[in-house]
Amino acid sequence: MQCPNCRHPESHVLESRPADLGRSVRRRRECLGCHERFTTYERVEVIPLTVVKRDGRRESFNQGKMFHGLSQACEKTTVTPEQVRLIVEEVESFLQQRNYREITSKELGELVLARLGQLSEVAYIRFASVYGQFASVDDFSAILRLLEKRGEQPLRLRSNLSTPGP
Ligand SMILES: [Zn+2]
Repeated sequence: MQCPNCRHPESHVLESRPADLGRSVRRRRECLGCHERFTTYERVEVIPLTVVKRDGRRESFNQGKMFHGLSQACEKTTVTPEQVRLIVEEVESFLQQRNYREITSKELGELVLARLGQLSEVAYIRFASVYGQFASVDDFSAILRLLEKRGEQPLRLRSNLSTPGP
């Protein structure tokens, strides 16, 4: 790291500490040339991810929004907020590791559903209905009937047309 004062290429690290809630490391350095002290921040490079919605609109991937949507689907189920947080993290790191720049909302929904399905069928159905993963109303009704047969009571489902609250 070049010294901002004399441009000497080498410095000595005096102190390292986590910053930005652990997402970066702050280092206090001393230049080996002029002994001026300066601070650097090191962070993991995050590739911005764009979500292409069904109507063709694009928006940047929003971790908070995904957490909120998933939390709603998991209300009054056995899925804990901690499990919701883990799903969001897993999906995000899966996409980062594969250097995805763009993903359709349908693909994103499938990645979530693959994980949610292992935790709760009710949450799975609710999330799928919100994200429009069912081809038709008939598919959807068939799955609901299946759940009723198994004795799992689907709670009132959110309409595709409803808008998420603030
Ligand atoms: Zn220097």
